[in-house]
Amino acid sequence: MSNHQPITHSARNPMRVGVLGFGGLGQAAARVLAPKREMRWVAAADQKGYVYSTEGLDPDRCIEVYRDRGSLGDLEPGGTHSTQSIEDLIRRGSQGVDGYFLALPNLPNTFMASVAKAFIESGWRGVLVDALKRTSAVEQLLELQDDLNNAGITYMTGCGATPGLLTAAAAVAAQSYAEIHSVKITFGVGIANWEAYRATIREDIAHLPGYDVERARAMTDAEVEALLDETDGLLKLEGMEHADDIMLELAGICDRDRVTVGGVVDTRNPKKPLSTNVRVTGRTFEGKISTHTFTLGDETSMAANVCGPAFGYLKAGINLHRRGIHGLFTAAEVMPQFVR
Ligand code: NAD
Repeated sequence: MSNHQPITHSARNPMRVGVLGFGGLGQAAARVLAPKREMRWVAAADQKGYVYSTEGLDPDRCIEVYRDRGSLGDLEPGGTHSTQSIEDLIRRGSQGVDGYFLALPNLPNTFMASVAKAFIESGWRGVLVDALKRTSAVEQLLELQDDLNNAGITYMTGCGATPGLLTAAAAVAAQSYAEIHSVKITFGVGIANWEAYRATIREDIAHLPGYDVERARAMTDAEVEALLDETDGLLKLEGMEHADDIMLELAGICDRDRVTVGGVVDTRNPKKPLSTNVRVTGRTFEGKISTHTFTLGDETSMAANVCGPAFGYLKAGINLHRRGIHGLFTAAEVMPQFVR
């Protein structure tokens, strides 16, 4: 097959995918995958167990068991309890999974890089996609570039909403300009209750003045609730350490100090407190200064804007992998491919 021929996936020959982490995003990922013909969801893991089925997993059943029993390890048949569920699942499903979406908390800030190392050491070959947020976390993966390449792993990083969808939109918008002056990402997130996305909220708290990742990680649920009580459930974030900056710099679009990210998270209302948007300002070849704005629809949830792109990048990564292209890629340098 020539390198330029698209590889066709179908219900008879679907991409077999796994989801690591089965909290807010992991469960949404299972629902996003359910109607897809090109992908079959065959594996999942949480902190206490994992499940693997070549026939495919039922999202309703998995979500029910996780909610009522606390782990996919309790799923019958197929569930297995484990305190090292990721390593065990990699071994068990080694030949049967083409790629994984890592819907895992990055707590501590080195966790995702340690998961990447576990995959490298396991001998598994395939595609990994994350929705990492922090610049320093993506920097750790950059150091693993050669190891990923040598291991035959195609790793797509920063492939959620921001970084992810909005970073990619900025990379496209930048093409009108001869010089990029600023990329300004402003997000609005509305969720009905913070417990549905504990890691996301803890990682956001880590950006507040006076907090860091370790402090936010060590907070009890009661302490998180007390903090949210003080702010009426709102988290107002500015000047965040977000990997959109390093991703746009690596893509050659602008220096990282021209990229800013901030937003508002309402943890008590699914309605977005503001419309998520990215504004890309630059100078055209004629010398005109202008701004492109890309705004997400207010009805789209955080889960839709993270999981959709994550699987779009997983499909793109699987096509790269099948062409023998391995190593580390970001959402700003590869186009996501729509999963049917
Ligand atoms: P969550 O807290 O709801 O769920 C985390 C899940 O991971 C749980 O199922 C837990 O059991 C599992 N887990 C934890 N440690 C594990 C381990 N060692 N092995 C296996 N499983 C383990 O998390 P969430 O709110 O869905 O967030 C997931 C990640 O997505 C966070 O890091 C968050 O920052 C990121 N995120 C990114 C974007 C983006 O746009 N890029 C947006 C939202 C969230």
